[in-house]
Amino acid sequence: MSFSDLGLRAELLRAVEAQGYDTPTPIQRQAIPAVLKGGDLLASAQTGTGKTAGFTLPMLQRLAEGPRPAKCQIRALVLTPTRELAAQVGESVRDYGKHLSLTHHVIFGGVGQQPQIDAIRPGLDVLVATPGRLLDLHQQGHVNLSQVEILVLDEADRMLDMGFIHDIRRVLKLLPEKRQNLLFSATFSSEIQALADKLLDRPEMIEVARRNTTAETVDQAVYRVDRERKRELLAHLIESHRWYQVLVFTRTKHGANRLAEHLDKRNITAMAIHGNKSQSARTRALGAFKSGDLQVLVATDIAARGLDIDELPHVVNFELPNVAEDYVHRIGRTGRAGNEGQAVSLVCVDEHGLLKNIERLIKRDLEKRIEPGFEPDPNAKPEPIENGRNRRGGGQRRGGNTNRNSGGGSSGNGGGNQRNGGQRSDNGNSHNRNASDQPARRRRRRGGQGNRQGQA
Ligand code: AMP
Repeated sequence: MSFSDLGLRAELLRAVEAQGYDTPTPIQRQAIPAVLKGGDLLASAQTGTGKTAGFTLPMLQRLAEGPRPAKCQIRALVLTPTRELAAQVGESVRDYGKHLSLTHHVIFGGVGQQPQIDAIRPGLDVLVATPGRLLDLHQQGHVNLSQVEILVLDEADRMLDMGFIHDIRRVLKLLPEKRQNLLFSATFSSEIQALADKLLDRPEMIEVARRNTTAETVDQAVYRVDRERKRELLAHLIESHRWYQVLVFTRTKHGANRLAEHLDKRNITAMAIHGNKSQSARTRALGAFKSGDLQVLVATDIAARGLDIDELPHVVNFELPNVAEDYVHRIGRTGRAGNEGQAVSLVCVDEHGLLKNIERLIKRDLEKRIEPGFEPDPNAKPEPIENGRNRRGGGQRRGGNTNRNSGGGSSGNGGGNQRNGGQRSDNGNSHNRNASDQPARRRRRRGGQGNRQGQA
């Protein structure tokens, strides 16, 4: 099957061809005709499956067929959990829509709002937004959502994880009754199901990868190692295997900084990206990583969400995530669009319970390896896992955290709580993050006004 069999117009086919895509991916084969029909859609798809083109191409086609937007009006609204994902969706809209005369803009917090207001004023065919900044601009009367024809919730599971549910509900109240709704989510929790039930009207359901599974093209393994020797082992693996483009996940911002510094000292070029970094620092790091100037990018889960890096060969879990579903998201960074990838996890005695949860979720045992010279101490005792809360700075592990990894617990409720803890570890100490990027609920509690833009 080719893109021209899917009913897309010539302008879009030319744009797809310019991207070098020959064949639609499974999600595109199913989503494109479904969206073109105009009905609601519930799609289970991980990043890396081509889902962005799956909703962007038919959305642009439908918009091209209708009248232009009026002043401050938005015709299609795409909500994303993070600025990076918003920027990437914006790039897709630009690339796929380059032969159509549709207008679009991307808005998120952490940057000045005036250019965003100026871009919205004449009305837009497509607005890609993070919920916090959208609500701020709406509150100030700069955007009118009463004529939205298409709503896309991209990575809806992550939006809920990040506490955006109240913001989403507020946005929904601003939209007209009659509209097309598209909901994309990598994982399906009962919360997502509840949101889908409320939002969608007799949706077409698409499920490309099995739920909570990792891509077949990713070679996954676990290195057992002592907690204190992880940094050394990572540097050794990178050097001995000559890995040249490695995305490394840490649980905390401080951990990300420390690890990047350590690797740099070993002459392995590395930078950290996380919620405390300004938008420009994150963009710079990502650019250097994509171009190959930077060998290692160290990221926290939230910062890494939505990173689109073609053919990323190596993902390393320097620490396992507290919530098993995050493992699936992390691994989704490699082995994308059919390419082969390798994902290794460095696991110490503290993390055996987390590993069990992950294996249960993905329904397979991961291969366990021990690197010669890095044999773990068989008598090592587990310690509570650091998740970045209540720290007084510095790099020392503390014992005061209640987030014990005693293992065996489900990744359901308990995992959800832990995830919130991890979330705070990425946001809580932020000095650079703009209030607009955080759920309004949290901003209200902190007494923030949400118009402190431009502080990043
Ligand atoms: P996504 O899942 O939307 O984040 O897309 C993952 C990656 O796959 C992006 O780098 C896209 O450029 C790429 N991609 C999307 N559709 C196709 C296709 N039909 N053929 C090849 N690559 C694609």
